[in-house]
Amino acid sequence: MMYNDEFETLPREALKALQIKRLQQVLQRVCATVCFYKKSFAAAKISPDAIRSLEDLKKLPFTTREDLRNNYPFGLFAVPMSNIVRLHASSGTSGRSSVFSYTRRDLDTWTDLTARSLAAAGLTKNDMVHNAFGYGLLPGGLGLHYGIEKIGASVIPISDGNTKRQITILQDFGPTVLCATPSFALHLAEEGRAMGVDMQSLQLRVGIFGAELWSNATRDAIEDAFNIKALNIFGLSEMMGPGIAMECLEGRRGMHIYEDHFIVETIHPETGDVLPEGEEGELVFTSLTREAFPLVRYRSGEISRLIPEPCRCGRTHIRMERVLKRSDDMLTIRGINIFPAQVEAILKAIDGVEPDYQLIIDKVGALDAVELHVEVGEKFFGEAGGVKELQTIEKRIVKDMKDYLSISPRVKLVAPQTLKESGKKVIDRRTI
Ligand code: ZN
Repeated sequence: MMYNDEFETLPREALKALQIKRLQQVLQRVCATVCFYKKSFAAAKISPDAIRSLEDLKKLPFTTREDLRNNYPFGLFAVPMSNIVRLHASSGTSGRSSVFSYTRRDLDTWTDLTARSLAAAGLTKNDMVHNAFGYGLLPGGLGLHYGIEKIGASVIPISDGNTKRQITILQDFGPTVLCATPSFALHLAEEGRAMGVDMQSLQLRVGIFGAELWSNATRDAIEDAFNIKALNIFGLSEMMGPGIAMECLEGRRGMHIYEDHFIVETIHPETGDVLPEGEEGELVFTSLTREAFPLVRYRSGEISRLIPEPCRCGRTHIRMERVLKRSDDMLTIRGINIFPAQVEAILKAIDGVEPDYQLIIDKVGALDAVELHVEVGEKFFGEAGGVKELQTIEKRIVKDMKDYLSISPRVKLVAPQTLKESGKKVIDRRTI
């Protein structure tokens, strides 16, 4: 079932014509309203008029995550604040996070695209959806929320956390659809079993999962645990949130990217050269319809491969394979994206902490667990050693990590030079 037959099955030639028309409009607009683009196009000696075909797109400079941070908080907005009706943001301290804005029309577009994604998973107004993506500054929960309402299904805005309550609601309300990160879904299944609940005989029939790297093995485990069909949804906060690409019911054959709203390119992560369709590389997105926060050639850091072959479902939009790795050092911990540099910035601001640290990520059951080893000054370990001071530092680290990055690590303070030997700032022991 399709939400928007006309656009989802647009012949590729017509789709490309629509893309170039919308691209020209967006380029004119960013050049006129966003200082950053005016400057970066001028530096590349290129005017929007020179972009006449999709082939020309590669003449334009990339937008990077660094550019977003350098323009924190509102430098890349293309409309005045009076036209903005919603703000979302990534985790991080000041200058280390990114802020995303939406006009009324942006929210309508987003709602339509998440509704389109849900319809691709077979949802109708007869469904009840248990939405366990986080509601808040990150755009996951709210993004899907409005799409669920738009197709007329009933939404349970449960958000993440409160596992036992969630299991009770899954039993008592009988939702037919589960939306969550894959690891939280597995955690629900484990906790449910521990509570003596038969998780396979709930009313659930389909699940929509994303916001983490996950493999087909994890998919099998989820399908088995709940006796459901598990589908993959793709989103990028920078582009909008969830609903940029979605698997159709043909399943396991990649996610359709909504090309009437986004142009996708694949580039070599080191050289930046555009790769032929179908080769593995970093995905680069250009938003075609965003009013408040349009991005041109945004480097997503996601490594994937486009699938140009037509899909049996009839949708003409190109598909992308599931993302299994990244081109940068971004980590996703319990659905939250963080960078080692953000951890470093937090530690740097704390008195008594030395520059070396080590972040160790592992799974405890289905969930991610983080241990943070931090070097502190020699003085704390001398004869006059300050147990109290050490406790204060430890508490402060735990609090700041929670406040700024929404993760709760187990902190271990160690003597200077202890961590030098291993040389690794991040040890990720998880398998996906
Ligand atoms: Zn399809």
